[in-house]
Amino acid sequence: MSFDAAAYEAFYRRSIDDPHTFWAEQAQRIEWHQPFKQTLDYSKPPFTKWFVGGETNLCHNAVDRHLATRAGQPALIAISTETDTETVYTFAQLHAEVNRCAAMMQALGVKQGDRVLIYMPMIAEATFAMLACARIGAVHSVVFGGFAANSLATRIDDAAPVLIISADAGSRAGRVMPYKVLLDEAIELAQHKPSRVLLVDRGLAPMSKVAGRDIDYATLRQTCLDAVVPVVWLESNAPSYILYTSGTTGKPKGVLRDVGGYAVALATSMDLIFCGKAGETFFCTSDIGWVVGHSYIVYGPLLAGMATVMYEGLPIRPDAAIWWQIVEKYKVTRMSSAPTAIRVLKKQPLELLKKHDLSSLKALYLAGEPLDQTTSDWISGELGVPVIDNYWQTETGWPIMSIAKGVGDKPTRPGSPGMPIYGYKVKIIDETTGEECGANEKGVVVIEGPLPPGCLQTLHGDDARFVGTYWRNFKRELYSTFDWGIRDADGYYFILGRTDDVINVAGHRLGTREIEESISSHCNVSEVAVVGVEDPLKGQAAVAFVILKNAAPAATPAGAQALEAEIMKVVDHYLGPVGRPSRVHFVASLPKTRSGKLVRRAIQSICEGRDPGDLAVIEDPAALQQIRAALAVLPVS
Ligand code: ATP
Ligand code: MG
Repeated sequence: MSFDAAAYEAFYRRSIDDPHTFWAEQAQRIEWHQPFKQTLDYSKPPFTKWFVGGETNLCHNAVDRHLATRAGQPALIAISTETDTETVYTFAQLHAEVNRCAAMMQALGVKQGDRVLIYMPMIAEATFAMLACARIGAVHSVVFGGFAANSLATRIDDAAPVLIISADAGSRAGRVMPYKVLLDEAIELAQHKPSRVLLVDRGLAPMSKVAGRDIDYATLRQTCLDAVVPVVWLESNAPSYILYTSGTTGKPKGVLRDVGGYAVALATSMDLIFCGKAGETFFCTSDIGWVVGHSYIVYGPLLAGMATVMYEGLPIRPDAAIWWQIVEKYKVTRMSSAPTAIRVLKKQPLELLKKHDLSSLKALYLAGEPLDQTTSDWISGELGVPVIDNYWQTETGWPIMSIAKGVGDKPTRPGSPGMPIYGYKVKIIDETTGEECGANEKGVVVIEGPLPPGCLQTLHGDDARFVGTYWRNFKRELYSTFDWGIRDADGYYFILGRTDDVINVAGHRLGTREIEESISSHCNVSEVAVVGVEDPLKGQAAVAFVILKNAAPAATPAGAQALEAEIMKVVDHYLGPVGRPSRVHFVASLPKTRSGKLVRRAIQSICEGRDPGDLAVIEDPAALQQIRAALAVLPVS
């Protein structure tokens, strides 16, 4: 295979050796109202300021800027298979809606720097609201619609919004999910009370309104139809939004991002990583409640002048061809999703995919969780396009590792999210000594400051927690990703799980992910979660929960015992007896967030008989019941 490895190497090196020149060049991808005076201010590490003194605006660059050349082209394609609606907004129409929404916010007293909390389903108004905030310099905080009242209340208190924008309800698999009821409950629970609540009435659920506080979106919009709200030019380091991390491993952290750095980072990534071109269509299947949705449903594609698809619905409703129907209809060229969604599709009949003309599609990008080779090979084979793994976090806002095909066409390597992306000085270091690991030596994935543009500036309202959490884990000041990784001899990285997921069995430190991987290689294992459980003898013991492809062999106690022994043998083979789980339980589902991340801490607390705490992140609480039930079954001896 021929590829230009040297091209990427040189490009990467320049971004690290001379970040000032490198990023000053990339910054030309966006429009500046005032040019910046200093590319980077790193005088107070680890705090990073990019493009100091420059004035710009995310909404201007995502919307207004394109009016001259593509006003009539699609910008936002809002599709809901839940309500059977499909609306295409051109850049001109999007511009008008965003102006209206901005005027509505101003009418409700929102000013520059104020926080606006957005708790909405995947409807066009959510995008209008985000862009309207960006337009007037208000700081949005989108809270994932799947969160229940308690989690929402915590986030209301942390963000202290002057306005909350919400809707009567969302819908999932045809079931109405009440938002307004939950929101009222959350406001009741919260210490901070927003003065206004703006509500989109989709006609899905009845809404009771609080007089003087609750306002109807459509009614207020009528008074703002011709609104023209000038863009507020913001210093590059002004805040653009707060977004809470998934909370998979603990208390969610309110990631705060800037304006200019984020715009530049996204514009650059759209070209060099996602290879999207203006006029094409981008389809990211995530949710606006997650960072992937912020960066690659709303801001990234629009900054690039692409149309973006916003999809409300499941990947398998009305049938498993729905995504491919969208790809065909809107000639999607680049698609971004998560491994977990692809695994869901893999269980569906194949013919459905074949029904559609997917010739527009050039690549599929997957992020959020480790991508196993089976899933990657399957979908790549079916679609006939490359699958590109990309590794990043809410904190970074855009990929830390991937294969930047727009720079040099390096081949991907199975199981690896690729190499550090330009701008990220990634290292793998020994957790205790802080020394850099050699090839194929496992360590913590860290990033040496300054972090490139687009990454978090701090945690909202808590600089000390930002520094303490991320930068004070080693002898040297380094940003910790809290993920384990290794780099092979050719420079490809592999993510081996989270540092929180490490267990200590009789003095041996083991990553639960490694144990999970070895268990996955058993032919009847569909999914697996391994947690460390307190053990009087060994300190901790690994306990595995397995979903089988074919559950029949484990239906009888003797069958389950035989299978458990087989699985233990597989682990012995790969990791040796130290990695062998003390028990293997068979379950039908595992507790996950809606974005498909396993919530191991919940399983662990149940195993240890502790209160699992805030479980709002878990999509299917019945999965926890399964864990309890599995633990109640005594081993056959
Ligand atoms: P919290 O930090 O609150 O516990 P979280 O880490 O789940 O939540 P996110 O920022 O949404 O919140 O997830 C980022 C994490 O997801 C990464 O640190 C990594 O563990 C995992 N991840 C993301 N992309 C990949 C990938 N391509 N391969 C492997 N792991 C990935
Ligand atoms: Mg995290």
